[in-house]
Amino acid sequence: MHNRYSRQQLFSPIGENGQQQLNEKHVLIIGVGALGSASAEALVRAGIGKLTIIDRDYVEWSNLQRQQLYTEQDAQEKVPKVIAAKKRLQSINAEVEVNAYILDASSEKLPELLENVDLLMDATDNFDIRFMLNDLAQKYQIPWIYGSCVSSYGATYTIVPGKTPCLHCLLKVMPNTTGMTCDTVGIISPAVQIVAAYQVAEAFKILVGDEKALRKTYLTFDVWQNQHYEMNVEKLRKEDCPSCGENPTYPYLSFENQTKLEVLCGRDAIQIRPPKPVQYNLEQLAVQLRPYGEIQQNPYLLSLQAADYRIVIFQDGRVVIHGMQDIQEAKSIYYRLLG
Ligand SMILES: [Zn+2]
Repeated sequence: MHNRYSRQQLFSPIGENGQQQLNEKHVLIIGVGALGSASAEALVRAGIGKLTIIDRDYVEWSNLQRQQLYTEQDAQEKVPKVIAAKKRLQSINAEVEVNAYILDASSEKLPELLENVDLLMDATDNFDIRFMLNDLAQKYQIPWIYGSCVSSYGATYTIVPGKTPCLHCLLKVMPNTTGMTCDTVGIISPAVQIVAAYQVAEAFKILVGDEKALRKTYLTFDVWQNQHYEMNVEKLRKEDCPSCGENPTYPYLSFENQTKLEVLCGRDAIQIRPPKPVQYNLEQLAVQLRPYGEIQQNPYLLSLQAADYRIVIFQDGRVVIHGMQDIQEAKSIYYRLLG
């Protein structure tokens, strides 16, 4: 029998035991954009037992420069990222069980998916969602690895509930990059790969149970400016932290649940989620919307190109209106087409 993991097993901190551990572990990656693609591929190649991926987007041409799991065909057909990712990941390693969910990370369904999850990997592009993940991780006592990147810059930090300060504890020391997003200042793929490499290395340590080896610093770098900083944050854990302190209230869990209408960060797009879940019949909807513009459709979503905007309607009722920044105008289009 060929042993596909032989080189990894020769690495003594993993060894045969570690490989066995990896094989039994379940990792949940939130977001399969650039970071999520990179860490999903690495974890699947490494032979983890089970991977769950969730993402709400479909593949676009502007993703291909850095989102390594996707192809031109995926962009052409607007395939949901998790569907394209799952197909690719299973062709890389059929032994790994891959579960894919077309889902918003702030969905009420997320807690259900946390059952028997050993590790959460952050691959989102949104701080509200990261703080929600941080609360979930504390509530369900699951380690998680924060990662973010934009431009030539990246940051990562490993959070182990009960042992390290949480993201909320670090709120005041984290560099403020609000307003900097991939859509405003761009991003280069090496920044993605460096963050993902650190995240995956930390993931291996957690999954094989080598906690002593975990990096205890908040790490940031700029690969273009040749900068690398590590901040020692061990003493920053706050006893009265609302997320990880003695009497946690998990403030970000209730905050996210109330959000129904959301402006997608820096994308010149507005997302609308209906207050109650719906199931659209996309075939029927296509007929109904034909007078409004050109329609493109696949089994998961329908896209309508109108004169001055493009609207994408997902089967579960979620809607993204591109080319739009005015919330009231977006609502009015929504009600006109779907109300
Ligand atoms: Zn905390």
